[in-house]
Formats: sequence, structure tokens, C-alpha cells
Amino acid sequence: MHMGFTAEESAFRDEVRAFLAENLPEHVREGARNTPSVFVEPDIGDEWQRILFEKGWLGYHWPKEVGGTGWDPVQRYIFEKECALADAPSLSVLGLKLVAPVIAAYGTAEQKARFLPRILDGSEKWCQGYSEPGSGSDLASLKTRAELDPDTQTYRINGSKLWTTHAHYADWMFCLARTNPDVKKQAGISFLLVPMHQPGITIRPIITLAHDHEVNQVFLDDAETHARYRIGEEGQGWEIAKFLLENERGGSCAAPRLLADIAKLRQAAGSAPSGSNGAYGHLDAVQARITALELEALALETTELRILADLKAGRRPGSQTSLVKLVASSLRQKIDEAFVDVFGVYGLQLPLERPLYGNSAPEPVGSREAQLATPTYLNGRAWTIFGGTNEVQKTIIAKTVLGL
Ligand SMILES: Cc1cc2nc3c(=O)[nH]c(=O)nc-3n(C[C@H](O)[C@H](O)[C@H](O)COP(=O)(O)OP(=O)(O)OC[C@H]3O[C@@H](n4cnc5c(N)ncnc54)[C@H](O)[C@@H]3O)c2cc1C
Repeated sequence: MHMGFTAEESAFRDEVRAFLAENLPEHVREGARNTPSVFVEPDIGDEWQRILFEKGWLGYHWPKEVGGTGWDPVQRYIFEKECALADAPSLSVLGLKLVAPVIAAYGTAEQKARFLPRILDGSEKWCQGYSEPGSGSDLASLKTRAELDPDTQTYRINGSKLWTTHAHYADWMFCLARTNPDVKKQAGISFLLVPMHQPGITIRPIITLAHDHEVNQVFLDDAETHARYRIGEEGQGWEIAKFLLENERGGSCAAPRLLADIAKLRQAAGSAPSGSNGAYGHLDAVQARITALELEALALETTELRILADLKAGRRPGSQTSLVKLVASSLRQKIDEAFVDVFGVYGLQLPLERPLYGNSAPEPVGSREAQLATPTYLNGRAWTIFGGTNEVQKTIIAKTVLGL
């Protein structure tokens, strides 16, 4: 298998690199660099989304006929890698990467025309209503109920969604709801698009250990949505939910950001005093620890490139995506732990204010990097939970790869 880039791919990389150098504003880079959370704040994300929208470089997970860039998986990887190297913010996946490909694949012409342009230009924001109290890993057991009034063709929805990321910024929620309780649990689920700004929706913030407000519990009490906002047929929700999850995990580009962070870790360790002789990063044990992380990230990158080659050849990556999710999220947490260690006592600050960039950011003790270490570490505990926990990924790998 050829692992290098072709001449066209290298030219594309140069084009992306030049665009980022010219168009990624310094305060946006600064915001991305100093965000301890998995998800960047909308002020930073929105500005970057607008710039990419104007360039026509946004819908790179979308089919070309609905406004996608038409890039192949290798171009997507190159783009994401260059963005990681330039400290560009990761854009919210909820609209662009999760629901948009679903609407493109399963939506009617009217649904595509209604929703996709507003996702692309950022004028409507989305949240994901899958998990519920008691239904996370066992998602098919979800209890939120949607009943259709045959006269008005309106669904009345009752239940509660949990851990709903950025529900407080969202205009719409894509939501799994039970429309038929009398059939096998997977067969009774439908995929509904629900407007968030209505009396039947209440959002309760959940403030996490790191003091971030990213996730929420959303209560649906006689919330309504019209049947024209159901994607696919009634009962097709489980198939669509799986399509979305496969998209969420497939074609990931985790390694470039991990490698960029390992380079920053090496730099931080190189200047942090060890308390004995010279910098902390010069100690053999520290060098070995950072090199082990780097080797793991390089192996991950090889796996990601192999998956891209599969996707480019029209093959589905299957359970390899579980492998990537497992390794990438564990590695992310090991890097976060190493940052806390490198900064020693300065790495133990836990500022309560947000954001940690801009004029109102709290003054760090030591450096801004040291101030970010513990919030990032705490926030990052979620990596091995969302998008399917690592224990569940291990079960998938055990069954499908190892045949156990
Ligand atoms: C920061 C964050 C953001 C999130 N954002 C969203 C969002 O926007 N929308 C959304 O719908 N959901 C979201 N989630 C929810 C996430 O998808 C669920 O938390 C996850 O699927 C786990 O479900 P659960 O929390 O119900 O835990 P449970 O399923 O109850 O699991 C509890 C523990 O048991 C283990 N476990 C469960 N089943 C098995 C099994 N069969 N074998 C072995 N171990 C098992 C799990 O690994 C875990 O350690 C988010 C979660 C987090 C932490």
C-alpha cells in the first residue's frame, strides 16, 4: 500500500496551508489554543465557520450535490491535519458532520432545501437528542415518546434527553423518539427534527467537574414537531441513528491534533524546571513517556490513513472505527495527564471563569498553558464516554475483530 501523498495531494496541502496562514485570525487561534473543553465556544467556532463558508470549504463531509466540497477522504484528512497544525478551532460536529449527512441521505428534497443551507451558513445550530436517563449504551431502550395527531400531523413528544451538548445554543434538536411501543424496541423508534424554541422544551444546565457548561438535560413536555420534520419513515429511526453513529466515528482525523499536542507537551517539558538538574523534559523517564505517546499517535495515524484508503476505495471501515475511537480517546487522556505532571504545582490551578482567552480571562499563575492543564484534564475525562463508551467499543472489537 502506498502511504505517501500524490503530487496533487501535496499541492492541495500547500493550498490549505497558505489559506490558513492568510485567513485564520490570530484571536481565533488564541481562542482555540486556550479552550480546555472538547467543544470550542460559539464565538470562536462561529467566526471560523463564517470564514470557511465564504471560502466554500465547509461541507467536506457532505455529498457535492447538496453543497459539499467534493473532497475525497485524503483531502479531508489533509485539511484537518493542517487545521490542527495551525491551531484552528474544531468546528461543532452536530450540524455539519452529524445531522447534515443524514438529511442528505434520507431527507426529502424539501427537507434538504429547508435545513442544509442554514447548517452551512451557521444561521441554525443543532443538538443531538439520543441519550436519556437510563438509556446511553443501551440506546434502543429509550423511552421518549412521540405520538402523532392524525388531524394536525403533529407529533406530541414527552420525555427527557440527557448530556445534550450545546442544547443551550441550539435552534433544533435531532432526536430519537419512540413512535410505536408495541413492536421490537429497535423497530419502534423514529428520527425527528424538533424546534428548540417552544414552550414544551426546558433546558437544565449541567456544570461539569471542570466548571464548564457544555451539557444539559432537556425536558420535553408536550413538545411539538410537524410530521414533515420526520426524517425517513416512522420506525426507520434506528437504521438512521446507526448511519449517523458510523459517520461520527468513521473517517476520523484524531492523530494530527494529538501529535500537535504532543509537540506542545515536549516543548512545555523542555522549559519546566525539574527541581533538580535542568528542565523536567531532560529527564530520561520524561523523554521516554513523551516518546511512547508519540509512537502511539503515529501508529494511530497509520490506522487512520488505512481507513481513509478503504473509504477512498469504496470499502466500509467497519469496526476499525471502534479501534480508532478507543485508542484516540485513551491517548488524549494520557496526554492531558502528562501536561498536569509537567507543570507540577502550577498545573493544579482550576479557574472557575470562562473563557480562558480574551480580555476578561483570569490571570494565570505561571503560564496560560499551566492554567489550562487541570481544566483540560478534567474536561477530557469525557473522551472515553461520549460517542459510545470505551467499554462498549472493546465489546465491539472483541466480537467483530477477535471473533470472541
Ligand atoms: C461530555 C459528554 C457529552 C455528551 N453529549 C451528548 C449529546 O450531545 N447527545 C447525546 O445524545 N448524548 C451525549 N452524551 C452521552 C453519551 O453518549 C453517553 O454518556 C454514553 O453513551 C454512555 O451512556 P450512559 O452515560 O448512559 O452510561 P451507561 O450506558 O449507563 O454506562 C455506565 C458504565 O457502564 C458501562 N457499560 C454499559 N454497558 C456496558 C456493556 N454492555 N458492557 C460493558 N460495559 C458497559 C459503560 O462503559 C460505563 O462505564 C454525552 C456524554 C458526555 C460525557
